[in-house]
Amino acid sequence: MKKTEICLHCNDDYIPKRRGVQKFCSKSCKSRYWYLKQNKKELKLQSETGVVTNETKTDKMSWGGVGNSTVGTVLGNAATSLLTPEDKKSATKKDIEDLKSLILDRYLPIHNLSFDEYGRRPFYDVDTGNVEFFYQ
Ligand SMILES: [Zn+2]
Repeated sequence: MKKTEICLHCNDDYIPKRRGVQKFCSKSCKSRYWYLKQNKKELKLQSETGVVTNETKTDKMSWGGVGNSTVGTVLGNAATSLLTPEDKKSATKKDIEDLKSLILDRYLPIHNLSFDEYGRRPFYDVDTGNVEFFYQ
């Protein structure tokens, strides 16, 4: 018997791919959940996701091209821990899209492959089944 969990957003039953980590039935529920949180200005501390909101830090970062404020907030926090100062300066729209996908669990880190010649980390792309390399 597979263990099911309840989606935090739509309250549907689902079978988690990664037990203990996944709290939503789908990527869209996860995005939607964060979007609604943002709208309600409930930005204190999302302890269940481990994401600590720091508005000051997020506001100071310039993420040109990111229109979605929810993604901006989540990215700001993730980027703080994932990117070096050097990377922050040269982050392109593509980088941000990559990071966004990462946060939505599309990419899973691969541990038995080495980093590529640019020092990027290998990830398994759940959607395409390809291996992709990203700066982390
Ligand atoms: Zn759901």
